[in-house]
Amino acid sequence: MSDPRPRRTVTRTLPARKRIALIAHDGKKEELLEWAGRWQETLADHELVGTGTTASRVSRTLGLPVQGLMSGPLGGDQQIGALITEQKLDLLIFFWDPFAPQPHDPDVKALLRLAALWNVPVACNAASADFMISSPWLSQSYTMTIPDAGAWVSDRSSE
Ligand code: PGA
Repeated sequence: MSDPRPRRTVTRTLPARKRIALIAHDGKKEELLEWAGRWQETLADHELVGTGTTASRVSRTLGLPVQGLMSGPLGGDQQIGALITEQKLDLLIFFWDPFAPQPHDPDVKALLRLAALWNVPVACNAASADFMISSPWLSQSYTMTIPDAGAWVSDRSSE
């Protein structure tokens, strides 16, 4: 059986001002709000987007603009996944709850899969988010490798 992985890669350069997605499951929202409060000034230099309830709570608590998509269980995780697929998201901060099964577990898995596939940095808890947000690359452009989608399609169409 042939290896299904994309073989060819291209580069993608993230801008100095990042588009950052914020998502927290209900059991993790307080933790995310506490974390975002600690990094409020840093987050203010970037563009924020989030699933509906998370975006609304971060925006209200911190007074920062956060573009709110659909709520997670109503399809918001998939919207964030679409941003990743279209190379329109730079960082993902996703406090998923290891103690609570979610009605949209398949969407959560799909989102994490797309982030892994497209080489998007992901933080799943406060410590990893601290490391991510204090990285020197946060405020600089950063070039990374992603699958070559054009080559993937043309290889598969010529088979
Ligand atoms: P919410 O969605 O921000 O609308 O609560 C988060 C999620 O459960 O994925």
